[in-house]
Amino acid sequence: MYFIELFSVFLFFLIFGAIFSPFLGGCLVLIVMLFLLGGFIVFFSLNFIWFIAAGLVLYSLGFVTKFYRWYKLPDYNEYINRYPQCKLNNVVSCFKCGSEKTIHNGLFHKQSKLRYYICTACGSALFRFKVL
Ligand SMILES: [Zn+2]
Repeated sequence: MYFIELFSVFLFFLIFGAIFSPFLGGCLVLIVMLFLLGGFIVFFSLNFIWFIAAGLVLYSLGFVTKFYRWYKLPDYNEYINRYPQCKLNNVVSCFKCGSEKTIHNGLFHKQSKLRYYICTACGSALFRFKVL
């Protein structure tokens, strides 16, 4: 029985890894994954500890992935240095499509202090910033 449990957790992470995308609907994916995990539990009679453990690992993986992607974004100064043509009078434009319509988003939730700008026209992440 032990192998079946390990196998199902492995399968779970395989599927999770395949469709997880923190920047686009990470929350929705997480909920879907929890449903899938619930399915696995019923199917393989996993015990509750496994469920908690997988949930925790899942959550921290998502957390780390998100933070890492955010951290890899340039900050404002780096962005301006990298794409000098994007610095307009009051706004910054998208380096990909040149659109001036940008919005900022919280990394983990709407009020998150770690934030980043994204282009509303093409959806690229532009640069990161912190709110103190
Ligand atoms: Zn754009």
